[in-house]
Amino acid sequence: MNKIAVLAGDGIGPEVMSQALKILDIIESKSNKKFERTEALIGGIAYDETGTPLPDETIKVCEASQAILFGSVGGPKWEGLAPEKQPERGALLPLRKHFSLFANIRPVKIFPALIESSSLKNNLIDGGLDIIFFRELTSGIYFGQPKMIAPDRKSAVDTMLYTEEEITRIAIKAFEAAKLRSNKVCSVDKANVLMTSVLWREVVSNLHKSKYSSVELTHMFVDNAAMQLVRAPKQFDVILTENLFGDILSDEAAMLTGSLGMLPSASVNEKSFGLYEPIGGSAPDIAGQNLANPIAQILSLALMLRYSFDMNEYANMIEESVSKTLNEGFRTKDIAGQSTDITILGTVEMGDKIAANL
Ligand code: NAD
Repeated sequence: MNKIAVLAGDGIGPEVMSQALKILDIIESKSNKKFERTEALIGGIAYDETGTPLPDETIKVCEASQAILFGSVGGPKWEGLAPEKQPERGALLPLRKHFSLFANIRPVKIFPALIESSSLKNNLIDGGLDIIFFRELTSGIYFGQPKMIAPDRKSAVDTMLYTEEEITRIAIKAFEAAKLRSNKVCSVDKANVLMTSVLWREVVSNLHKSKYSSVELTHMFVDNAAMQLVRAPKQFDVILTENLFGDILSDEAAMLTGSLGMLPSASVNEKSFGLYEPIGGSAPDIAGQNLANPIAQILSLALMLRYSFDMNEYANMIEESVSKTLNEGFRTKDIAGQSTDITILGTVEMGDKIAANL
C-alpha cells in the first residue's frame, strides 16, 4: 500500500485538492495500486485550530508517508502574525528543511491549446513549450555562512558555498529525468566569474563523462540563459542550475505560460520522498467560489506519481487528459483569454472533464 499525506491548507487549497484526489481515485482503479491518504492540518487553518502553522501531528503524518500532496497556505487573515507563526514561513519552509528536499523540480509547459496566454509571440512557441527546471534548493547563497550586515550597517555579506556532493546529487536527478524525456541537459552557471560555478561545471562534466555520456550536455552562462529563455525557449529541455539562478530563471520561465493556475512543482530528497504543490498561492480573491483552476494541483499529482512512485506511464496519462480537455475547448476563467469558441467551467466541472478524459 502506498501512503501519502494530504495537506490541503488554506484558500483555494481544499477546492483544488478535491479535484486532484478525484483523479487519484481513477489512477487507483487503472493501476491496481492503492494510495492510503491521511489528511493533516497545515498553514493558517492549522494555526487557528492548534496555535501553530505546522503541528507536530502533521510532521508525524508526513514522516509516515512516501510523499506529501500539498495545496497552498496563507491569506490576509494571518499576515500580521509573528514570522514563525505565518503560514508560509512557519510551515512550508520548515517542512522542506525537515525532509531535506534539495531538488526543486519545475516543469514549464505551454499546452498547444493555450499558446495565446503566453507573453511571447506565437512563432517562438509554435506547437507549445515543454521545459523542466532542476534547481538546487537547500544550499548556495541563500544558506551559506557568514551571512550578515556589519554592525555599522555600511557593508553586508552573503556567502555562496557549494560542495561536490551537493552538486552531484541534483545533477543526478536532472540526468535521470532527461533519460525519460529528450535526453538533453543544459547546465546553467556563471563559471566566467564565480568559483562555485567553476566547481559546478567541473562536477557536472565529470558526472556526465562517467555515468551519463548518452545524454547531451551543454553549459550556458546564466545571463545568456535569461536572454535565451525569452528569445528561443524551445532550445531547452532539462535545465539544471543552482539555487539563486534557479529561483530567478524558473519564475521568468513560469510567466511564459501565462497562468499560475497551470504550473505544478516538486521538491524531493535523495530517497524520492517529495512534496508536490502548485506554484501559485492560496488565491484568497477567488477562494470558495468554484473559480480556481485545478490543473496545477492535478499536474502536481502527476509529478508525485512520476518522482515518488515510479509511475511515469500514469503521470503521462494525466498530462494527456489535461491536454485533451484543453484541446476540446474547456477552460477555467483564468485561462479563458479572448477566445470565443471555448466553454468556461468551474473548478469542480474542470476536474470532472479531466477525470472523464482519463
Ligand atoms: P496567489 O498565487 O495566491 O494569487 C495571485 C493571482 O493568481 C491571484 O489573482 C489569484 O486569483 C491567481 N491564481 C493563483 N492560483 C490560481 C488558480 N489555481 N486558479 C486561478 N487563479 C489563480 O498569490 P498572492 O495573491 O500573492 O498570495 C496569496 C496568499 O498565498 C498569500 O498569503 C501568500 O503568502 C500565499 N502564498 C502561498 C504559497 C504556497 O502555499 N506555496 C505560494 C505563494 C503565495
